[in-house]
Amino acid sequence: AETKKVALITGANKGIGFETAKQLGEQGITVVVAARDQQKADGAAQKLKAAGIDAYPVVLEITRSSDFPKVYDFLDKTFGKLDILINNAGVSEGGDDWMANTAPTVTQKQLRDVFDTNFFGLIELTQTLLPLVRKSPAGRIVNLSSILGSLTLHADPASPIYGSKMVAYNASKAALNSYTIHLAAALKDTPIKVNAAHPGWVKTDMGTSAAPMEIPDGAKTSVRLATLSADGPTGGYFHMDQTLPW
Ligand code: NDP
Repeated sequence: AETKKVALITGANKGIGFETAKQLGEQGITVVVAARDQQKADGAAQKLKAAGIDAYPVVLEITRSSDFPKVYDFLDKTFGKLDILINNAGVSEGGDDWMANTAPTVTQKQLRDVFDTNFFGLIELTQTLLPLVRKSPAGRIVNLSSILGSLTLHADPASPIYGSKMVAYNASKAALNSYTIHLAAALKDTPIKVNAAHPGWVKTDMGTSAAPMEIPDGAKTSVRLATLSADGPTGGYFHMDQTLPW
């Protein structure tokens, strides 16, 4: 019999990440839920297990690379592979005035803090776990981007996102989109598919209560890209089944 699929979801203690773990788990996929500390990871895994899902907690702070070998070893010893990597953890500039962080005013600290999580840490984790994804017969990597990473839309004054110029966050997601294209190209002769997801504007701590989309819908794009069949796309940028302009 084929062994069960295993997925690792970062930032899985709340928001879109937790819901993605839940929906993948409901499909019979084993989910490894990563959170910044043990309490958050255990809490998420316990909630999922109570819902009948095969869930395991791991501690993973994306900016602390000393956590990475522990996660690698856990996955390697327990499953010997990783079928699905969901790079979901992410941050925005934060603070009440984050909309004011425009290109002329953004600080080096804001830029570096956002890029450390959304870009540098994500890449280092992906590179660390890639050998395990290569051991899967059908590896899938999903990078949580945002429509705000679209350079095409940001350059278009008629686009509805034109006014949302949070430069650190937007630039980090544009950079992540670039990495997504590069990684997909590097892996094009393997079964691994790498795609960027825009979940929608979703009611989470990041999205705020002003967002129109409920969390169960916000996880759908990640779940779809995590479970693409062999003839599915790679190196794409999607919201649901819609392609976004880079
Ligand atoms: P939340 O703020 O609700 O959740 C973010 C998750 O990421 C939390 O689990 C958080 O952990 C974790 N996280 C943040 N920084 C780190 C870090 N350094 N190391 C490990 N974990 C970290 O956000 P959402 O669920 O809304 O967002 C999920 C993804 O979707 C993000 O990448 C976001 O950019 C993207 N997205 C969201 C949109 C929205 O409208 N909500 C729109 C477009 C994209 P902790 O609880 O410890 O802080």
